Amino acid sequence: MKKIITVIICVLVAAGVFAACAVNKDNNNTSTDVRPASGAEKLKIVTTIFPEYDWVRQILGKRIDNAEITLLLDSGVDLHSYQPTVDDIVKISNCDLFIYVGGESDEWVEDALAQANNKDMLTVNLLESLGSSIKEEEVKEGMQIEEEDDEVEEEEVEYDEHVWLSLKNAAALCKIICEKISLIDKDNAEIYKVNTEAYISKLNDLDGQFRATVDSAKVKTLVFGDRFPFRYLTDDYGLDYYAAFIGCSAESEASFETIVFLAKKLDELGLKSIMQIESADGSIAGAIKDASQTKDQTVLTLDSMQSTLSKDIDGGVTYLSIMESNLQVLKEALK
Ligand SMILES: [Zn+2]
Repeated sequence: MKKIITVIICVLVAAGVFAACAVNKDNNNTSTDVRPASGAEKLKIVTTIFPEYDWVRQILGKRIDNAEITLLLDSGVDLHSYQPTVDDIVKISNCDLFIYVGGESDEWVEDALAQANNKDMLTVNLLESLGSSIKEEEVKEGMQIEEEDDEVEEEEVEYDEHVWLSLKNAAALCKIICEKISLIDKDNAEIYKVNTEAYISKLNDLDGQFRATVDSAKVKTLVFGDRFPFRYLTDDYGLDYYAAFIGCSAESEASFETIVFLAKKLDELGLKSIMQIESADGSIAGAIKDASQTKDQTVLTLDSMQSTLSKDIDGGVTYLSIMESNLQVLKEALK
């Protein structure tokens, strides 16, 4: 598979070189923007997941018309199962800035970048950008352990990729993305800086609201009848959790033991809610509820933004609006 992708990339890059030359030829009028050699008028920015895409929109502000921003994962396929199409590879190869997560789910990026057509391309790798503040995947008591990759991954540390679910991380990442955009489009750097500062202050404000909610809550533990991508969020505010599976396990069936363990946790802690993420069909949460003593919990959904749909984006959702909705869900869960 890897070989095939590499071959495809080679062919595409060769084709891309000619395409870029053609564009340059037509584009020899004077431009005030000093930018890498991609040749086009607009800033070309490619992002993998929705949070990156939305952060770029916020940083560009009114200059958004001057950019061509691509969101690769807009069809509901989640980060862990996504593979780039031929068209995606061409877009990455010719862009000015490429933003990706940098975890085990997007290892395909290395091949794509090694053969990129635009040698001046800048990149932002979210995990790398956050340095030592990234966390390893955590296995908690009661979790269903993945069986298939026991041998391969035995010695390898696996990092939790869901860094965007911390508002503090979001602020740090926006600052870095702003710096990169400013390097590409120096003339407008001041505008991007002002936009980014205004946006970070909104992120900080919402962070304060999460903090206040958790501090005043009676309940401090969440039980997830699902995968658990929210570790960066719960750690930020000192919440405890139990879950059926680690971060983004490929498992979808919970064992009897896992169901019973989580149901007991609900009973023991007197919790009134069972959590799940946006992709869930509710079956695991339902089974946990049925196995509990009271069987009266509400199933609540937190959005982890791993498969945001283009129709929702057209409908106006933003990273902040989703995190605000998550705060309302959390308020309900911590009652
Ligand atoms: Zn995930």
